[in-house]
Amino acid sequence: METLLPGARLGVLGGGQLGRMFALAARRMGYAVGVYTDQPGSPATQVAERAVVGSYEDGDAIAAFAVGVDALTLEFENLAASAIAAAERVTRVRPGHLALHVTQHRSREKEFLSRCGLPVVPYVAVTSAAELEAAVTRFDSGCLVKTAGFGYDGKGQVALGRVPDAERLEAAAALVSAGPVVVERRLELAAELSVVAARAADGGFVPYLPVINSHVDQVLDVSSYPWAPQATAAGEGPRLGRLDDPTGGLLTPALLAAAVEATEAVFTGLEFVGLGCVEFFVAADGGLYVNEVAPRPHNSGHLTIEACATDQFEQQVRALCGLPLGSAAPLAPAAMANLLGDLWGGGELDWAAALREPGVRLHLYGKASARPGRKMGHLTALAPDGATALARVRRARSALAK
Ligand code: ADP
Ligand code: MG
Repeated sequence: METLLPGARLGVLGGGQLGRMFALAARRMGYAVGVYTDQPGSPATQVAERAVVGSYEDGDAIAAFAVGVDALTLEFENLAASAIAAAERVTRVRPGHLALHVTQHRSREKEFLSRCGLPVVPYVAVTSAAELEAAVTRFDSGCLVKTAGFGYDGKGQVALGRVPDAERLEAAAALVSAGPVVVERRLELAAELSVVAARAADGGFVPYLPVINSHVDQVLDVSSYPWAPQATAAGEGPRLGRLDDPTGGLLTPALLAAAVEATEAVFTGLEFVGLGCVEFFVAADGGLYVNEVAPRPHNSGHLTIEACATDQFEQQVRALCGLPLGSAAPLAPAAMANLLGDLWGGGELDWAAALREPGVRLHLYGKASARPGRKMGHLTALAPDGATALARVRRARSALAK
């Protein structure tokens, strides 16, 4: 397939922060960027040459947008797969509708992962109230009921204890009446990992080293990337220092290498071309499970902007355009902290105090109103070691609200 050189017109479906950072990377490299969004003034449109406002369900409007670009990517997977298929008829679309069809539906995704021989959290696909009742009794450690489609940041999920109370059961029943769900065992998590990676049209696969993630209320809070520039020697899996493994030893080189291998299996199985991410759970007994797949840049990959030779958004541009994929090598240990709207509760934030912390970089997404739970921006800290990077980014974030 033809290589699209700087000057070509790239389109992105979705106007949020991922689209914004894609557009910034693409424009830095000399491409023209158009954004298709359902929200006028959204973060990506502020930095793009061109914006089209329309519905994500409207295949005709998306196809019309696709006619005006040389290649199309996405920052958001909850698009009608039929709209993507329509766009594929008029321009290059990466990732394509197959990857989207699988990853936008939790039970399809889990079936696909199981077919690939990858471990998923035990689950049952449920479509009726009667099935729900039967399913919740199967998991003696409690379970999570998750909508099969259109969930993100823990939205569309209900956690049920071993003996669920009536109110939560009602909330779970409401999810089922709105559409199919999966009921999955609640694991006792020792850690969460993610592997961001790119795959080229010729099958070339370039993974980043794993990121260690901590969540608060099911939303990513802080990511840690404790990798020194020469993190792996030839033939050896990535090895964490003692201080950088929050589990005190479960994140062995073999487990980390298995996560990277699983990511390659997922990308190959999906015939994925582009930049994406696989999320993993590490259970308290050391078991590794694939949680879910994002067919687009990932919040946990934001720290690659400062910490890696090529960041996830430039890699997305390269994969889309058929340029050589860049090196994903670490440049420095780093950590990232999300800035949610909740932080704005007490009025003006002290940006100077946060930026006084050495090695800290600020990213704000240009969102007008700081609603609780809304991802407004993030901070990344670089440091000589992972523990210092984490301490810096946490201190910087705390300093904001003082
Ligand atoms: P989302 O699409 O909202 O990211 P996830 O399935 O990744 O949905 O769930 C969000 C977070 O909720 C996870 O990162 C994890 O912290 C927690 N979580 C989800 N499923 C489980 C589970 N089966 N056991 C324990 N924690 C879970
Ligand atoms: Mg997730």
